Amino acid sequence: MISLKEKHLQAIDTQDYLKKELEQIEQRIAHDTTGSCWHTQEVFAYAREKADELDALSVKEKEALPLYGLSVGLKDLFCVKGLTTTAGSRVLEHFKSPYDSTVYNVLKNKGVMLAAKLAMDEFAMGSFSDTSAFGRVSLPGFPDRSAGGSSGGSAAALASGLVDFTMGSDTGGSVRQPASFSSVVGFKPTYGAFSRSGMIAYASSLDQAGVFTHTLDDLVYLLESDIASADSRDMTSEGMLLKDEIKTESLRIGFFPQMLEDEAIDAEVRQAYARTLKKLSDSSILKEVDVPLMKEAASIYYILACSEAASNLARYQGVYFGEKLIDHGYDGSFWQQAASYRSEYFGLEVQKRIMLGSFILSSENFTAMYQKATQLRKMLKQQFKSLFEKVDMLVLPVTPMQAPQWDTISQMSSAQIYMSDYMTVPFSLAGLPALSMPWEKSANGLGIGMQCVAPWKHDFSLIKSLQRIESRF
Ligand code: GLN
Repeated sequence: MISLKEKHLQAIDTQDYLKKELEQIEQRIAHDTTGSCWHTQEVFAYAREKADELDALSVKEKEALPLYGLSVGLKDLFCVKGLTTTAGSRVLEHFKSPYDSTVYNVLKNKGVMLAAKLAMDEFAMGSFSDTSAFGRVSLPGFPDRSAGGSSGGSAAALASGLVDFTMGSDTGGSVRQPASFSSVVGFKPTYGAFSRSGMIAYASSLDQAGVFTHTLDDLVYLLESDIASADSRDMTSEGMLLKDEIKTESLRIGFFPQMLEDEAIDAEVRQAYARTLKKLSDSSILKEVDVPLMKEAASIYYILACSEAASNLARYQGVYFGEKLIDHGYDGSFWQQAASYRSEYFGLEVQKRIMLGSFILSSENFTAMYQKATQLRKMLKQQFKSLFEKVDMLVLPVTPMQAPQWDTISQMSSAQIYMSDYMTVPFSLAGLPALSMPWEKSANGLGIGMQCVAPWKHDFSLIKSLQRIESRF
């Protein structure tokens, strides 16, 4: 497959490159069966204009735009001026953003062509791309299985070759888990690398934009094009990241021995983990590690994420944002109307989390639940801090399961679904950079990714170390 860099260079030398490219993308999306693309006609009309503008630039101007010639798909929670952005919710079904998210703005200024808005779970709450109001996303090649979530559209669209790279968001694993199912690279950088401005919020202290590519080289190309930048509109954004010294020899890799035995993890995933460690042991120093609080991470995560969601989603009461209350003929006081509206326009998973969050934040529970979870989060961070004095990287599976069938999902309880995030949420709580690498395929051809985690802001070091490891295999 041609790399992003080569594609960019080829595009510079080709007349009307994007125009032709877009025709092919439109064909591919028209034949897509995963359900990963939304608002297609609107996005194509927008893309045609952009393609014309960009193709009309001089060669010199194109050379100055590192993403010229490349197409991107954005999860449908990145606002794009003038385009519908729904976050998978009926509340925002007709919302057209008045401004661009910073993530898109930066990509646009580097010459990218937006060619797809991608399916997701409603407000990014979910693990299987099945909670949105607008249809679910299936795993490419496996219509009976989920593409994972909540950025299932971003993973499936890339894996199906619809666009050149995609952006998603990862609050508790939503880039890494679908990347693992679809056998693509899914990268969640250190919290704060990308601006959250113009990204529809779920849980602000955890939400982080992430990147899906086919290869590590493509990911490096994008990051070296400075697609992550500090932004005054988001005070937690610091941009990219230490370009630190890469350790070439004696990389110390931490692994979790109990995961090799844990029967809650699919047997093929455990076997793949064992083989991975064996391979890594040839060139790195493996160290057994244990992070006691990781067992509590899913509980801590859901307490905090639901609390933040209840607060963030309070704005959708039909006055300032979303479908207008006034247009829908509800009776009663404002509060009664807002309650009916929210019951009607939010999906069940979102309503459940708003209620959980409101319960946790109520005065009776605040200290015992919210504050306790906040303290435990701090302790977890501390445990990682000590750990990263002893190791340079952690390697573990991304998720305990392979992409599940829709039938299996429908039998799972909410608690089972929530707990299945226990391998990704610890690093979200700590804000650490974490990447899902396509690693193996199971006997029936399903992707099994491995998750690699580095200390805060050592994103480049993580990716470059992985490139080196990969080149040795
Ligand atoms: N499955 C997790 C949740 O539902 C993660 C979602 C995400 O990262 N957006 O909260």
